[in-house]
Amino acid sequence: MAHSIAPAAEALLDKALPVLDHGFVRLVDYMGSDDRIVQAARVSYGDGTKTVREDKGLIDYLLRHKHTSPFEQVVLTFHLKMPIFVARQHIRHRMARLNEISGRYSVMRDEFYVPAADTIRYQSKDNKQGRSHEEVPVELQQRVIELLEAEQRATYAGYEEMLELGLARELARINLGLSLYTEMYWQIDLHNLFHYLRLRIDPHAQYEIRVYGEAMAKAAQAVAPMAYEAFQEHILHGGSFGRTELDIIKTLVHDNLEEFSAILRQEGMRKGREREFLAKLGLTHKDLPEAPVAVEG
Ligand SMILES: Cc1cc2nc3c(=O)[nH]c(=O)nc-3n(C[C@H](O)[C@H](O)[C@H](O)COP(=O)(O)OP(=O)(O)OC[C@H]3O[C@@H](n4cnc5c(N)ncnc54)[C@H](O)[C@@H]3O)c2cc1C
Repeated sequence: MAHSIAPAAEALLDKALPVLDHGFVRLVDYMGSDDRIVQAARVSYGDGTKTVREDKGLIDYLLRHKHTSPFEQVVLTFHLKMPIFVARQHIRHRMARLNEISGRYSVMRDEFYVPAADTIRYQSKDNKQGRSHEEVPVELQQRVIELLEAEQRATYAGYEEMLELGLARELARINLGLSLYTEMYWQIDLHNLFHYLRLRIDPHAQYEIRVYGEAMAKAAQAVAPMAYEAFQEHILHGGSFGRTELDIIKTLVHDNLEEFSAILRQEGMRKGREREFLAKLGLTHKDLPEAPVAVEG
């Protein structure tokens, strides 16, 4: 079977998608696409490619049933430029492979992240890890930017002075802050990229990593559009429930079967998926009331 070519991904290759003030996400390369997921899933019973509709259904089925290994057959390599504090968050994703610029080997460039004024917020009172939605007065936003820039200038001036004095790069760099930009090659398979995206494009994730996640989501969608659609349906905008939560939903549905059936008919899900959904709610098609027969006249 030939290399998989995804036209939208070809158009994206090597294009730096700008992120934050100096950063970017660049799709360097990819291996496999929706067709590779389908081939990998069907290899066990030697079945060839089917229609697009069947492929889409299979990919949706695989993701819905957490049969995730065929998604690992698709691999994306990114070139990322990001502030060190965002790179640190990426490094926690152990299933990715990476190579980062070395501050021992190279002179670090004078490029620091300064947040855009409208992203500067107070500490949230109800979310210990997040920003408040309350707006910060313009004068305070300007003050924050001045403080950040002054410290960045001072640490970089110290760094340059130590380099001029002939000190080792590995020592001169140690005071450079977390807002300094770094670069890395970051390679990840589609299964783990979906896991990363679920965590990092979520509103609970920090704004500065979310924007990298959003750019990488564009690349994932370009490489494997059917898989990305299934990811949106079952992972990004889907969810799972605990036993108590599910019991509450079941009670509501069982007490309102007429209304529930009407909504279900409107949705027009595929039969297999509808059967699975009913089973989650402790129901079968036999439990549903008959659709009302349209009366002419
Ligand atoms: C909103 C948010 C807040 C966070 N806050 C903090 C924080 O305050 N402090 C902090 O330290 N981290 C924090 N993290 C990082 C978080 O704990 C994870 O390290 C990070 O999200 C990577 O997830 P992961 O381990 O699932 O991914 P990966 O490392 O890519 O792993 C993917 C999956 O592989 C499996 N796996 C990988 N390695 C192992 C292993 N050694 N053993 C068993 N299974 C493994 C797991 O199933 C894992 O989910 C935060 C993350 C988010 C999204």
